[in-house]
Amino acid sequence: MVRINEEIRKEYTIKPPPSHLIFEYGRDSMEEYMEKHGYAMESSYARRSEETKERVEAIKREGLDFYIKEEAMEKILRHCYEQALKGRESMGFLVGDVRKWNDVYAVVYDIATASLEASSVYVRFHREAFEELFDALDEIEYEYVLLGWYHSHLGYSSFMSSIDMETQRTYFTQPYHAALVVDPITREMKAFRIINEECVEIPYAIFR
Ligand SMILES: [Zn+2]
Repeated sequence: MVRINEEIRKEYTIKPPPSHLIFEYGRDSMEEYMEKHGYAMESSYARRSEETKERVEAIKREGLDFYIKEEAMEKILRHCYEQALKGRESMGFLVGDVRKWNDVYAVVYDIATASLEASSVYVRFHREAFEELFDALDEIEYEYVLLGWYHSHLGYSSFMSSIDMETQRTYFTQPYHAALVVDPITREMKAFRIINEECVEIPYAIFR
């Protein structure tokens, strides 16, 4: 059984970060990305996100250190979208590698999911769900690093609720651990970390 809190990384792979970025936070629109990939939900309550340019600029200044491989992104969006069609939220783990070039950065290569009991307003983050996810992790055959988790919100936008923050604080304590919140209805995806006890939105990029 894998235990996140005991996961210790002694050495980072030294490698430059991915250069072929097909999506960059602040430069590209997630709404358009989802639409292009066939994940545009037709919904009477679909609405545009109300991001201000100033806020996006502030997030970009955090420095990009969170990269998601296109195939992993596809799996996340498909999972969130398919569950959303059933009126359910979804949740899974982000797995990949932590590397170092000028700074330490995380690269998501794959996800681990499990059949979770989910409703339209919350995903159960109880022990059983996490045990099931850890089992799913064991089935991934390469040497992975757990990089965080993703889950979806259905139409109430991407943010970290108090339960989400509690989950992050309890299970994802490494500085590179992130939380992705996808809203397939408002077509948003945001990434967060807990930095100095505070929940901070961070920029991300998708690469090929
Ligand atoms: Zn949430």
